[in-house]
Amino acid sequence: MIDVCAQEKNQMSSITKALAGIAAAIESVTETEIVSLKLALGRVLAEPLYSTINSPFDRNSAMDGYAFSSTDLIPEQETSLTQVGCSWAGQPFQGRLQAGQCVRIYTGAVLPAEADSVIMQEQVQINGSIISLPTQTKGQEHIREIGEDIKQGDLVCSANKKITAIDLGLLASTGIDSVVVKRKVKIAFFSTGNELTALGQTLESGKIYDSNRYLLTGLLNDPCYQVTDLGVIADDPQQLEDCIVAAAKNHDLIISTGGASVGDADFIKEVLVRCGKVDFWKIAIKPGKPLAFGKINDCHFFGLPGNPVAVIVTFQHIVTPALEQLSGIPMSQPLHFVAKCSSVLKKSPGRQEYQRGILSQDTNGELLVSSSGQQGSNILSAASAANCYIVLPIECDGIQPGETVRIELINNIVNSVISH
Ligand code: AMP
Ligand code: MG
Repeated sequence: MIDVCAQEKNQMSSITKALAGIAAAIESVTETEIVSLKLALGRVLAEPLYSTINSPFDRNSAMDGYAFSSTDLIPEQETSLTQVGCSWAGQPFQGRLQAGQCVRIYTGAVLPAEADSVIMQEQVQINGSIISLPTQTKGQEHIREIGEDIKQGDLVCSANKKITAIDLGLLASTGIDSVVVKRKVKIAFFSTGNELTALGQTLESGKIYDSNRYLLTGLLNDPCYQVTDLGVIADDPQQLEDCIVAAAKNHDLIISTGGASVGDADFIKEVLVRCGKVDFWKIAIKPGKPLAFGKINDCHFFGLPGNPVAVIVTFQHIVTPALEQLSGIPMSQPLHFVAKCSSVLKKSPGRQEYQRGILSQDTNGELLVSSSGQQGSNILSAASAANCYIVLPIECDGIQPGETVRIELINNIVNSVISH
């Protein structure tokens, strides 16, 4: 007797294999554009950025206090200094310090050339212009040295880095006000299915609202992407072909949802075989097994499953790495944690499952996870309640409460852990 399940298992590939295929097939966009720093958040740097200045530019104070020379400190005794001026942030002391003198100084203010130390204002005694430093005063403290953050000529950000909010601050600190970034990746997406109904219309029996285009609108919300929503295309090979061929002319990637499996109304395969090159992957994951990956001329194509939760899982694990590759950033790997599971999780061996879970942390810092509800690939409510995937390996045949499981945060959607 033929073991159909075993046969199918052999034909299924792993995520690792799929990602290797993507890495080999996709090249980053090469065109660049210049954007002002304020518009650079989330964009990908096309070239390395070096600093033309030292940061800090001057030797300055890390505290509000008094600047002095450590050579004035009298060992084992209080030291009294005469205050002869003030150095404000943005308005340095203009004079020179003689032996036995100090200046009032504020955080960020330039240190007089003769000073090498700052004492906090809370630690001194003030008597008119006489400032007394306690016996245990250490010299050479609370100073920010020239270039201690970034030296002139240092690499500030490397090419292919996706600019973060912190990078904006860093780049601004070195005076960089515009950057050369890779152009946006042009992505078109559509839903397919005769049952799909537009929002605003009354639902008739047998129909459903089209969730996937809204899901994709959210998932594709990234400053690196320029997104076109192509709407709903009927289960009609000619309409699908017309849509795909037209979109392929001016996009880097087309994403469809639905119609990619082997039902009678699933035409994505037929159309792609006709107008491009396509691979059909049965990736051994649940949800999300059937997936088409192909190319129409220079445009890449992902045919994702129709069920919304399968869209979420395949988007994060397959499409996101492809988009990273297209945008020009290194492919990321999901971070894995280990948590104690408090739910019974049903599973049959054969596929790696991404069950939706709720991750929390107890007062001792231990990570706990529970199922977020029904695990059907159409169950959006439990996916919405989740903040993580519980990743159950291929061979796992279920989990009992108290067992430890591997978890992964649901990227782009939530990244917080609930604490008790
Ligand atoms: P298919 O892959 O076209 O057979 O679709 C699988 C399941 O996903 C079916 O129950 C479809 O009704 C559902 N589905 C397909 N497209 C969408 C969509 N855009 N929004 C919500 N559900 C969908
Ligand atoms: Mg369909």
